[in-house]
Amino acid sequence: MSDTHIIRKVRETGVIVDLWKDFDGWTVHCSKHGRVCSWPTQKEALAFLPYPSEWCDECCQDVLNREVA
Ligand SMILES: [Zn+2]
Repeated sequence: MSDTHIIRKVRETGVIVDLWKDFDGWTVHCSKHGRVCSWPTQKEALAFLPYPSEWCDECCQDVLNREVA
């Protein structure tokens, strides 16, 4: 198991997200919507990884819709 590629199912939206080391930082990826976002450090990327609504527009919409419903 590599520590430079992390895959998780997040509780917030129930989607699978992953994180890997990139050329210039750490990239998080929403496997459901295909969105990616990068942070300069693994610490920051790990902090945001469980909350795709912070970096994936579609996950954000899902969370907003759920709160309205
Ligand atoms: Zn998403």
